[in-house]
Amino acid sequence: MTGAVGLLQDLVRLPSPSGKEEAVVARLEAEFRSLGWTPEVRGRNITALLDGGPGPLLLLNSHTDTVPVGAEWTKDPLAAAVEDGRIYGRGSNDAKGCLTAMVLGAARAFSKNAPKGRVLLAATCEEETLGQGLEKLLPSLPRPDAAVVGEPTGLQPAVAQKGLVVLEITARGRSAHAAWGGGVNAVEAAARDVLALSGLSFERAHPALGTPSLNVTQISGGERHNVIPDRCRLVVDVRTTPDYAPEEIVARVRAAVGGEVVVRSSRLGSVATDPAHAVVRAALAANPGSVPYGSPTLSDWVFLKGIPTVKAGPGESRRSHTPDEYLETAELEAGVAFYEALIRRYFEEAAA
Ligand SMILES: [Zn+2]
Repeated sequence: MTGAVGLLQDLVRLPSPSGKEEAVVARLEAEFRSLGWTPEVRGRNITALLDGGPGPLLLLNSHTDTVPVGAEWTKDPLAAAVEDGRIYGRGSNDAKGCLTAMVLGAARAFSKNAPKGRVLLAATCEEETLGQGLEKLLPSLPRPDAAVVGEPTGLQPAVAQKGLVVLEITARGRSAHAAWGGGVNAVEAAARDVLALSGLSFERAHPALGTPSLNVTQISGGERHNVIPDRCRLVVDVRTTPDYAPEEIVARVRAAVGGEVVVRSSRLGSVATDPAHAVVRAALAANPGSVPYGSPTLSDWVFLKGIPTVKAGPGESRRSHTPDEYLETAELEAGVAFYEALIRRYFEEAAA
């Protein structure tokens, strides 16, 4: 069995932008075999079932892919060098550190006094693009009783997660020569829609997530300086809560604006878990003093709707996707202990 720092370094040194996770899967397959597990590789996803006997099934999931390296790094993004207690590299924080800690935490939990129940470890691909990973794998897996999604949360358990609705609004007008005037200016119509959207408010607040947020994030209109534009397009990003179905959000936007509204995406729903569920209690017990919270960022949790889930792992969400991404070695070791304790406590709580 490789140590936590060594395994994370190995994973960081194998680049795995979304769609190109094969080398990381092969490294994990070797690690799983050396731990005495029987890995199953399906596409670019890999699973292993740890069986402590009859009992509930706990899914542990994290992702093998990373965003591209990107610019502005001052460190080598693929060297996984340790400096001042930090392991630098693309994916060190999101989410190869979580993955490493999950694998070794589960290994420790099952190495002696194995819990009564089963853990299904699933390292999945294409989380960053919400592609061929967990969503595609899930139908071929036994249905879990509960799940943990490994993402950098500072080991705080997220018990709810916002969803995403993306809308396109097209304001239309009638073009004319700017010098002569006349026509109907679509950019002005779009501007009125932007102001109307900024005045929209949502009253119903979720205890962990608060209210939905809505932002106009893109605008484009007009072809030339001397032509009154006949169309202007807005893109709107809405982060939803379980209290608002996408249809209600869309209806509110339609009522507020003059432009034509088209739903570009509404499949990534908001999810939430009862804070009293065994998996939440286990996560809280594994990190004494931690507080359940609502996460504004998406993860593969969106595909686990109906399965009680917490999102928790070592590292910090704000470090993800940034240049000079890192995970502290102390955070990694704490992550291993966290997942081991969470697994043990979950099966105790579930049996109680
Ligand atoms: Zn991630």
